[in-house]
Amino acid sequence: MSGADTIAAVATPGTVSAIGIVRVSGPAALSILDRVFRPADGRPLSAHGERRLVYGAVLDTEEQVLDLCLATVSRAPRSYTGEDTGELQCHGSPVVLRAVLESLFARGARQALAGEFTRRAFLNGRMDLTAAEAVIDLIEAETPLAARNAAGQLSGAIHRRAEGVYASLTAICSHYHAVLDFPDEDIPPFTLERYRETLDAAEKELRTLLATFSRGRLLEKGVKTAILGKPNVGKSSLLNALLGYDRAIVTEIPGTTRDTLSERCTLGNVTLRLMDTAGVHAAADAVEALGVERSRRAAGEAELCLAVLDGSRPLDVEDGEVLSLAALAPRRIAVVNKADLPPAWEPETLTGFDAVCVVSAREGTGLEALTAAAEALFPLPSAAAGEILTNARQAEAIGRACEALSAAREAMDAGFAPDAVLTECEAAMAALAELTGRTVRQDVTEGIFSRFCVGK
Ligand code: GDP
Repeated sequence: MSGADTIAAVATPGTVSAIGIVRVSGPAALSILDRVFRPADGRPLSAHGERRLVYGAVLDTEEQVLDLCLATVSRAPRSYTGEDTGELQCHGSPVVLRAVLESLFARGARQALAGEFTRRAFLNGRMDLTAAEAVIDLIEAETPLAARNAAGQLSGAIHRRAEGVYASLTAICSHYHAVLDFPDEDIPPFTLERYRETLDAAEKELRTLLATFSRGRLLEKGVKTAILGKPNVGKSSLLNALLGYDRAIVTEIPGTTRDTLSERCTLGNVTLRLMDTAGVHAAADAVEALGVERSRRAAGEAELCLAVLDGSRPLDVEDGEVLSLAALAPRRIAVVNKADLPPAWEPETLTGFDAVCVVSAREGTGLEALTAAAEALFPLPSAAAGEILTNARQAEAIGRACEALSAAREAMDAGFAPDAVLTECEAAMAALAELTGRTVRQDVTEGIFSRFCVGK
C-alpha cells in the first residue's frame, strides 16, 4: 500500500547549519522535483541516474533561484519509503529551507506528518515494525552502546529471531492442517511429540530475548540516580562536570540547590537519570526541611546514590546524615570532591559503598574512575548488537508469545488433543505477528510513528 499523495519535509533541525536536507516522497516526487530543481547540465533531474548527486538550482514558483544545491533521487521500490523519493541537499538556512519547501508545496507536495516517511517504509514492506522503532531509538540514542543496539535492530536483529520462531510454528500448524485437509495425500502422520523440541526451542529463544529487557530498560531509560550531599560540597559543580555545561546554578551560598532538577547524563555506557536533590542540611527553615525530606525520599527511590563529600574539610554531623541516607539506596558511590585542595581526611576510611571515587568537579579530574565504577555496577548484557530488547511494546508481545508457548507445552504434557496445543501455537504466532507488524492494529502503528520527528 502506498500513500496516494506526495509528501515533503525538512529533515534536518531548524537551526542554522552547513547543510539542510529537504525530502520528498510519493508518486509525484520526480515530476515535482523536475519543476523545482534545474540541474546545471540542462537535463531534467528525472533523466539522471538514481542515487547520483546532481548539481543545480532550486527555484521558486517564479523561477527565481532559491539556492544552489545537490539533488538525488531513488525510484520505487528501491528507496527508503519504497516510493519515488528525492532529496535536496541545500545550504542549511532555515529561511531557505522553508522557501524550498513552499516551492515544493506550490507544485503539489504536502507537508509530511511526524514519522510519515518511516510509516510509508513500513506500509510498503521496506522494514518491519521492530526496525521502524529502531529508527527512532537510533535517533534518540544517548550512549554509543544504545546507538549500536538500535543499529543492530534496524538491521533486523529482533525481526530475524521472531521470524525464525514464527516459521517453526508455521511448520507445525501447516503440517497439522495438511493432514486434516488432505487425508488422501501421502503426508506423514501428525504427532505432537515430534514437535516438542521445536516448541521448547521456540520458547527458549523468546525467553532469552525477553531476559535482556530489564537491562535494556536501563540502556534506554537510564539509572535513577540521587545525588546527595550537604550544601557546598560541590553537587551542582559535579552535575555540571558530568553534563558538560552549566545546567545547575553554582553559588557560594549554602543551601541554594533547592529544587529537584531532573537531568540525564551519561557515564560511559551508563545513562544516569539524575535527581538533583536539595542539600542535606540540619534544617533551619521549612523550605530546607522539605529539601531534606525530598533527599530522603529520593534516596529510597533511587537505583544509585552518589554521596558527595568535601574531601578538603573534616566530615561532620551533616555528612554523617548523608552517609546514612545513602545507605537507603541499593547501589552507592561515594564521591569525595575538591581533590584539587589539600585533603582533610582519608577517603579509604569510608565503608558501606560500592565504590569510593576521589574527584575534583572544578578541574574535571577523577571522572574516568567514576565512569568505570558506574559501568561496573550496571553492566549491560553481552548480547550481540541489536539483541538487547529495549522497547516495552516489543517486550509485551514477546511475553505473550512466551506465555502461549508455555500453555502449548502444558497442554501437550496433559495429553490434550492436538488442536488445543495448536490454538496456543497460533496465539503465539499472533503475538509475534504483532511484534514485527505482520498484523498490527492501526492505533498501535499510529502510536509508534507519532513519536518520530517530521522528516523521518
Ligand atoms: P552544592 O551546594 O553542593 O551544589 O555545591 P556547589 O557545586 O554550588 O559548589 C559550592 C562551592 O564549592 C562553589 O564555590 C564551587 O566553586 C566550589 N567547588 C565545587 N567543586 C569544587 C572542586 O572540585 N574544587 C574546589 N576547590 N572547589 C569546588
